[in-house]
Amino acid sequence: MKQELKKLKDKGQFRIIPNIEAKSDGKIVIDGKEYINFASNDYLGISTKYHLEREFLSKTTSALSTASARLLTGSSPEYKNLENTVANLFNKESALIFNTGYQCNLGVISAIINKGDVVFSDKLNHASIIDGMQLAKGDFYRYKHFDYENLEKLLKEKRENYNRALIVSESIFSMDGDIANIDKLIELKKKYNCLLMVDEAHAFACMGETLAGISYNKDVDIITATFGKAIGSFGAFCVSSKDIIDYLINKARSFIFSTSIPPLNIAWSNWLLTEKREFLISQKNKLNNLVKDVHTLLNNKGIYTVSNSQIIPIIIGSNEDTIKISEKLKSKGYYIPAIRPPTVPEGSSRLRISLTADCKIEDFEKILDII
Ligand code: PMP
Repeated sequence: MKQELKKLKDKGQFRIIPNIEAKSDGKIVIDGKEYINFASNDYLGISTKYHLEREFLSKTTSALSTASARLLTGSSPEYKNLENTVANLFNKESALIFNTGYQCNLGVISAIINKGDVVFSDKLNHASIIDGMQLAKGDFYRYKHFDYENLEKLLKEKRENYNRALIVSESIFSMDGDIANIDKLIELKKKYNCLLMVDEAHAFACMGETLAGISYNKDVDIITATFGKAIGSFGAFCVSSKDIIDYLINKARSFIFSTSIPPLNIAWSNWLLTEKREFLISQKNKLNNLVKDVHTLLNNKGIYTVSNSQIIPIIIGSNEDTIKISEKLKSKGYYIPAIRPPTVPEGSSRLRISLTADCKIEDFEKILDII
């Protein structure tokens, strides 16, 4: 292990947990120094609206522990309420809460894909999707990112060799900020008789008419998303048909064999999505206006980006250079950590600028100048 750790250090890939001491709207304190935070997935700025937390905590009577998995004694009315809220929000029959987005993707894929089944997955899909495929007993193929001709070629060659088939894609990709062509994926899933699963982790509450992301009201069979990003909470969910949700309740091992999240947290997510819905929408509009302004600025400066969302990658290439620029930004008061392999492919280390409703366009301009 020591040798492997040394290798990571030599390659500039050794990771440490930052010593984060405090967070406030758009700011973060690390090792006693305050930075402007361009690294958060708290896209609507909810997690630092401490007045909301205080208001919720002054009213709630929800418990701090379940001490059990849902199928034993770990369920409570808070769960049903939140599952109804998200099923309605996404206009789907049913919903199931998982402890995290990671466990959700892992559980859904490994439950649905058995021996004789197959997954077709975008090459840049999140680690939780990759790990789900590796855990599943079936086979998987990874198509080139956004290359739907490559996907169709694989479907043509391989689909008929299997029973059940699943196509999986993120909607907004977590490290590139580009958006999948959901209509094309629907066309292919129909043509080749597959199920389609879309991970809306980075679009949920940031895009879509009802906060429901990119695939709202489209023929997507399974949608997964997390409460840990734009909602500023914790936990995750899958929305689908009643049959698929019943199947997951019976087969998804990361759901069945793990103690459920405290009802307090479940109630907090539900309170935000119901009682504070108007506030979420106003923050979403604020974010969307900023995203528009930032992309116009990039365009005017002639800077090309694959992104068309709040996630903007600045691809540097080598680990060392990315770390150097990240340190330089830090010395000027901006927090944008270096993202390195295995989170992103070798040779594509980057600064992942993440806009939230609390970011300012003037700061973004300064960051570009420094880079
Ligand atoms: N899917 C995607 C696309 C993600 O980016 C993430 C979080 N990085 C997850 C799933 C996992 O969600 P959670 O943090 O709730 O485990």
